[in-house]
Amino acid sequence: MHCVSAYNGDMHIVDRIYLDYAASAPLYPEAHVAITQFLQHPLVGNPSSLHKEGRAVQAKLDRAHTTLAAIFGVHPTEVVFTSGATESNALAIRGVLAAWRAAHPGQRPQVVMSSIEHPSWRQTVLSEDAEVLLIDVSPEGVVEASAVLNAINKRTALIGCMHVNNEIGTVQPVAEIGKGVAMWREEHRSEWPVFHVDAVQAFPYCNTHLGHVRADSMTLSGHKYGALGGIGVLIVKKHTPMRSIAKGGAQEWGYRAGTENVLGALTLAAVAQYSDTHRDQLTEHMTKLQRDLESRLKNVSPDSRILGESVGRAPHISYLWLPNVHDERFVHKLDLAGVAISSGSACSSGAALPSSTLLALGFSNEEAYGGIRISYGRFTTHHELEQFVLRLKQLLV
Ligand code: PMP
Repeated sequence: MHCVSAYNGDMHIVDRIYLDYAASAPLYPEAHVAITQFLQHPLVGNPSSLHKEGRAVQAKLDRAHTTLAAIFGVHPTEVVFTSGATESNALAIRGVLAAWRAAHPGQRPQVVMSSIEHPSWRQTVLSEDAEVLLIDVSPEGVVEASAVLNAINKRTALIGCMHVNNEIGTVQPVAEIGKGVAMWREEHRSEWPVFHVDAVQAFPYCNTHLGHVRADSMTLSGHKYGALGGIGVLIVKKHTPMRSIAKGGAQEWGYRAGTENVLGALTLAAVAQYSDTHRDQLTEHMTKLQRDLESRLKNVSPDSRILGESVGRAPHISYLWLPNVHDERFVHKLDLAGVAISSGSACSSGAALPSSTLLALGFSNEEAYGGIRISYGRFTTHHELEQFVLRLKQLLV
């Protein structure tokens, strides 16, 4: 399914190798089953409608809430379906800042975040009228929990820290930050600051249980785990001061007005359930793939580096920095050689900007265009990685 033959534009037939799971994973069979069942017994109602048809759709949606709630250790009413992680992040930022401004008239909120947040978080925060404090990461790409916690003051409305960086895969100390934020709030008898975790790249490989992370809100994205695109989740713990952004409907516990994407939610519940029950096998498979890939990449070029190699990383992302590989042309060459891969994040790929993560790591503007992100998943094989490295080497000579 993931490896198909394709015409490469040079009159050769090549096997496609898909190594861009962190951008979007292939549809999982469990999602396929959910879609097939949906088509076999089509639901016609709007979940908000009071009639029998509407109630039947609502019942399906309720089950999806319950499944996800059990996986993340929250109540079903704390699971809010959105159109994806970008919307979840925007709702968390705008919703929390709106609640803070209402509680602090005439004052300007402060937002604290790591310097390697995803553009959907970073750019939305920067578009707000708020003082923004960027917390630097180490040269390996990890933020220090104490640096984040030391930045909190009485005007801090929101703290954002991703769980796993989407470009280099480094794991951030979110549980430590969550604990520290809870202590600060207790000491100051305050409901602020709200602590948000973007866990898009962390599930299912890291412990994203809310009892462990102690975040007040958390972002997830369906298509990264094998569900349909256009479905995401924002987990919002009940005590969290957060307002809704879109008005006009009471869907998703009043946080997200608008008719829900029921089919998307069903696919997300199905794949999340699969990944949760197969966490150990998936993590073991990924860890072996990462070890295999990175040992093969070691001698691909004398100056190449795997970023974040010496610190904790998620097992499905490897960033290979290559000094002579600049901009997107190399990604196109690999594409013609049958390999689907990203340079940095898919989002910054589209805009052809230097990687914001590499800039935060101390790379120069020019250097921050260098390298490729290789991300793999459930269906990736060792043979594909071997073939990929062979093709990569051919392009580098
Ligand atoms: N956050 C992170 C960490 C991501 O990796 C991504 C996807 N690149 C997003 C947010 C945005 O996800 P979506 O495509 O669901 O909007």
